[in-house]
Amino acid sequence: MDSEKAVFEAGWMPAYLEFPVSMKLKGMRFRGKIDRVDIMKSPAESVPKGVMRGVIIDYKLSEINVRGRTVLDEKFKEFQLPLYRLMLKETIKGIDVEGLAYYDLKRSFRLRRVFEDLTDGEFTGHIEGLVMELRDREQGFEKTVQERNCKYCSYTDICW
Ligand code: SF4
Repeated sequence: MDSEKAVFEAGWMPAYLEFPVSMKLKGMRFRGKIDRVDIMKSPAESVPKGVMRGVIIDYKLSEINVRGRTVLDEKFKEFQLPLYRLMLKETIKGIDVEGLAYYDLKRSFRLRRVFEDLTDGEFTGHIEGLVMELRDREQGFEKTVQERNCKYCSYTDICW
């Protein structure tokens, strides 16, 4: 509660909860539901008139394992929040997403901003590359070794 109070006193207010977002990239449709988007009540001088500052928040009941610096290599697996950022920008205009944060509901009960070094351009290029790879009929693919990853996948019936 103290942590939330400090966030609200700093001027942030939850504006969107369980908010559905989507976007199309290289012919592929992405969809998601964002736990929470906080909006800053007072406008900042650095942001153009009519644009609101926003932070995308994901509630996390498990351990938060995010590398200090974002490296878009084959080990990069934390797609969720950066994708939310792109999808929110596509879904609502007029929000300058200045932060992505996990709400640590396991230990600290505080917001932890992550991926602060990630630029949208770099990330979009990375996702576009992966989509093109998926769409390439010549490229095979390896099934995930963690079956729980398949829970929300549309291909489960034909894959297993
Ligand atoms: S069901 Fe989906 S997530 Fe699971 S191995 Fe197949 S393609 Fe990958």
